Amino acid sequence: GSDKLVNALNLVLDKYGYKEEVTVVKTGCFGFCEKGPIVKVQPDDIFYVEVKPKDAKRIVEEHVIKGRKVEDLLYVEPNEEEKLEKQHDMPFYKKQHRIALRNCGLINPEDIEEYIAVDGYLALGTCLTEKTPEEVIELVKQSGLRGRGGGGFPTGFKWELTYRNKNDLKFIICNADEGDPGAFMDRSILEGDPHSVLEAMAIAGYAIGAEKGYIYIRAEYPLAIHRLNVAIDQARELGLLGTNLFGTDFNFDVELKYGAGAFVCGEETALINSVEGGRGEPNAKPPFPAESGLWNKPTCVNNVETFANVPPIILQGPEWFGSVGTEKSKGTKVFALAGKVNNVGLVEVPMGISLRDIIFEIGGGIRGGKKLKAVQTGGPSGGCIPEKDLDIPIDYDSLKSIGSMMGSGGMIVMDEDDCMVNISKFYLEFTEEESCGKCTPCRVGNKRLHEILTKITNGDGTLEDLDRLVSLGEYIKDNSLCGLGQTSPNPVLSTLKYFRDEYIEHVVHKN
Ligand code: SF4
Repeated sequence: GSDKLVNALNLVLDKYGYKEEVTVVKTGCFGFCEKGPIVKVQPDDIFYVEVKPKDAKRIVEEHVIKGRKVEDLLYVEPNEEEKLEKQHDMPFYKKQHRIALRNCGLINPEDIEEYIAVDGYLALGTCLTEKTPEEVIELVKQSGLRGRGGGGFPTGFKWELTYRNKNDLKFIICNADEGDPGAFMDRSILEGDPHSVLEAMAIAGYAIGAEKGYIYIRAEYPLAIHRLNVAIDQARELGLLGTNLFGTDFNFDVELKYGAGAFVCGEETALINSVEGGRGEPNAKPPFPAESGLWNKPTCVNNVETFANVPPIILQGPEWFGSVGTEKSKGTKVFALAGKVNNVGLVEVPMGISLRDIIFEIGGGIRGGKKLKAVQTGGPSGGCIPEKDLDIPIDYDSLKSIGSMMGSGGMIVMDEDDCMVNISKFYLEFTEEESCGKCTPCRVGNKRLHEILTKITNGDGTLEDLDRLVSLGEYIKDNSLCGLGQTSPNPVLSTLKYFRDEYIEHVVHKN
């Protein structure tokens, strides 16, 4: 409803003759989806939540004209009386640390000057005029930044590998093929701060020796595509993309390629095949894209959130970045918090925070005062984590150690009413459908897993079926060609590990 609200605000401002004095800016996502649409009045720094078009009149009459806050549009924490008017006072934002999302909700993403005003393109200028490609790679290596798309591979190391493979042609690819159901962090970054990704791609291009970048983006993201196109045009106009950037002999430009929504195209070799116009199927590795990627040329593929972290690392230094997070997982991670939690939204937190803090402090606890049963991280191929593990500091390695994974950052909270067998069946239906079919363990194995689960939920299962699920799940993990198959049994295996009693219940009571 935000567009209607923008129109209503403009109409009322016009009516009262304030159209010149007050500008209504459509910005990116604030992250607090539960309380949207949000209107932030600047420079007063007042944060209004759940604003409807009919409220536009009061905001203009009361706030703009009379300088009085509209009390009933201020945020109130559940079970509290106090109204909070500043964004940074709200529990939802207090424990967050915004690096990748730093400009979302702050700037007009369709105005390059607003990005430049918050030091945009300064990191690129610094790299091009003051640093060698080797120094840029070293900075990113020192920062400890790891791929935010799910793999967690060290970004600086990936850049170095591509840099070392000498070739007359190299490519940068930004993976914006966000396929996890419920995950929308990449979309939000592209919609709210597209220049940060373009700038980082140019920095990566300079570092590895590439003059061309592709953004592989889902065609289902029309606003992100529109804003990227606007950003690319504006950057070209100011000479920040194109030839001789910052008066140097470095050239770099970016082109969009649209994906048709296949989950497997998030895997880098499948993505590369798709960009080339082939079927979106993964290849066996090696060779890795750093050696032979797009059109057999050295190619560096990084995801949107990874790129969004790069300019601040260049400007503020690797020590600053390394001071946030844990020893082996530096910086922050953006999670799409969803499910049975009070504050659904997009949150960016330092690595090492506990799931309990995310769900209960930022997320405001479980909906309807119910009991938490599990939280699923890592998208459709992540695992379900039980209540007893909520205090583990989360990073790439700790999530793996408890049978889940970071993935791209989906986080679904389940309460006491959720049936874990049905949940694992739901995720398996997704991965079965999205399997590209290239290798047998994934193509056939997931089908068989699904059949066994259906048998169990139909009340026809046996205790032997539970053992079959485990052995088949492990076999699929060990023998599939790409990450999709290697992780697809995770929901089944983790729920069997932590919630076996629910499976037994289905088998014994035949329900
Ligand atoms: Fe395709 Fe699945 Fe094999 Fe990956 S694991 S190549 S998605 S069949």
